[in-house]
Amino acid sequence: MNDQTFAIIKPDAFKNGYSGKIIDRIINSDFKILGLKLIRMTKSQAEGFYEIHRDKPFFSELTEFMSSGKCMVIALQKEDAVSQWRELIGATNPSEANKGTIRKDFATSLGENAVHGADSDENAAREIGFFFSDIEIIANH
Ligand code: UDP
Ligand code: MG
Repeated sequence: MNDQTFAIIKPDAFKNGYSGKIIDRIINSDFKILGLKLIRMTKSQAEGFYEIHRDKPFFSELTEFMSSGKCMVIALQKEDAVSQWRELIGATNPSEANKGTIRKDFATSLGENAVHGADSDENAAREIGFFFSDIEIIANH
């Protein structure tokens, strides 16, 4: 399904009170919210979610951070959702993110960069399935 993507409002942005502003941007950019919930990941859940980064030097720091506080996990729908969401959030490193992007405006640092975005249709489907069961996703939008 190439019209869905997966987003997280990460612990830094949630803690800093930016969830509402980020959700405003999601809605104003014509994404439909198919599922949304507030969670607190355990370290081992964060390790499972970021499995593809297990061998990276930042894996431990990343999974510590992602399990350090509450997050919002969000399933989104829009035509070309994966690339549209990546465009809206901006570069991984907020200092390299374009003006007006979510990471430019709300991120704390390279590691604590406010939001997650799936990087492919395949990963979006896996990531939505990681946090949501079928009945938690709105169908027939
Ligand atoms: N990250 C980090 N240091 C790095 C690169 C990435 O701490 O040098 C963190 C950052 O939170 C990033 C996440 O690991 O969002 C996943 O990295 P990826 O390269 O997949 O970036 P993204 O897809 O989130 O832009
Ligand atoms: Mg990534």
